[in-house]
Amino acid sequence: MSRVRYVKSVSKIDQIPEEHRAALAKVSERYAFRANDYYLNLIDWDDPDDPIRQIVIPQEAEMEPWGALDASNEADNYVAAGCQHKYTDTALLLVNEVCGAYCRFCFRKRLFMNDNEEVEFDPKPGLDYIRKNPQISNVLLTGGDPLLLSTRRLTGIIEELRKIEHVRIIRIGSKMTAFNPFRITEDQELLNLFDRNSTKHGRIYVMNHFNHPREMTLEAKTALDMLNKAGVMMVNQTPLLRGINADPEVLAELINELSWLGVPPYYFFQCRPTEGNKPYEIPIVESWTVLNQAMTMVSGLARRARLAMSHESGKVEVPAVTDDIIVCRYHRAKNPSNDGRVMLFRRDDEAYWLDDLVPFENQKPSDYQYRVPLAEGSAGIVRPEHNK
Ligand code: SF4
Repeated sequence: MSRVRYVKSVSKIDQIPEEHRAALAKVSERYAFRANDYYLNLIDWDDPDDPIRQIVIPQEAEMEPWGALDASNEADNYVAAGCQHKYTDTALLLVNEVCGAYCRFCFRKRLFMNDNEEVEFDPKPGLDYIRKNPQISNVLLTGGDPLLLSTRRLTGIIEELRKIEHVRIIRIGSKMTAFNPFRITEDQELLNLFDRNSTKHGRIYVMNHFNHPREMTLEAKTALDMLNKAGVMMVNQTPLLRGINADPEVLAELINELSWLGVPPYYFFQCRPTEGNKPYEIPIVESWTVLNQAMTMVSGLARRARLAMSHESGKVEVPAVTDDIIVCRYHRAKNPSNDGRVMLFRRDDEAYWLDDLVPFENQKPSDYQYRVPLAEGSAGIVRPEHNK
């Protein structure tokens, strides 16, 4: 069915000069390479800084020491094989360990390595866990890319989830609309599956992953339109990436193109300090500045998105930066008593991650942190043992 041809070795890409191929092949021995002819055709090979090239073609600078393979310690969130549960109402099912291509800056690149045991192709243990935990109203299918599974297998998972009364929203984290839109446009059965299961009881959301406006081809727009007509709700999330979208005009163009198609931005992520990602990362203050400059060029509907760090302790947004202070706030916290907590840190233009920040004026956490009081009754949230 798929019209794309997968390319699994940089040595097969004629446009990469012969003298660079060996070095890049070495990088891809450490951090897996995968692309396809549709996506490679978007690259302007005359431009060594082409942003699409930066997304999928390895760089030698990836070998520079930086970060950790599991920078947000996702390993700590497993409650069953292939199932993570970090926030009360949301569970993740890691259903696949392959993507339509591999983003060089992937925060889960460890899944593409040989000894990964985090993905579970049998969804049963995760589904059993979700069934027993009525506080889970959202399930995110992720990996890897769930849309690389066959429609038959996806049907099995989605229809099982729909039988669980307390699961309302089914999210699918996917970059296939950018990497291989034919996966959607050529599979009416997939669209029918979404149409049947995105209901008034609970919608299906596709969490798209467009990084750059050049990914918004006619084929990609057609795929988004077909998903929309199949009753799928859509958002986009992207990290801010050096050489790709860390530029206000580029980012504004991406945001506008997506919002015009009904795909508003959801999160802009501060890149996790993941191994191999040094060439793509920018400091927190730069991310905040670029994003806020971009926001002056987009519609109000697109301005709802947040800049966030997916930190081990929770999703920490960066709502403001002043001359002296970086303001952070727990948008979602692993420990619910931190939900809404505001933290002030000393401004540091070289800081890349929450752990690099120093509390403003060396105050103790109890002095500078403000927590939103929990609503009556919500302090008694039933949380699984592992999240307490
Ligand atoms: S689509 Fe997501 S999971 Fe797949 S390689 Fe890119 S960042 Fe990683």
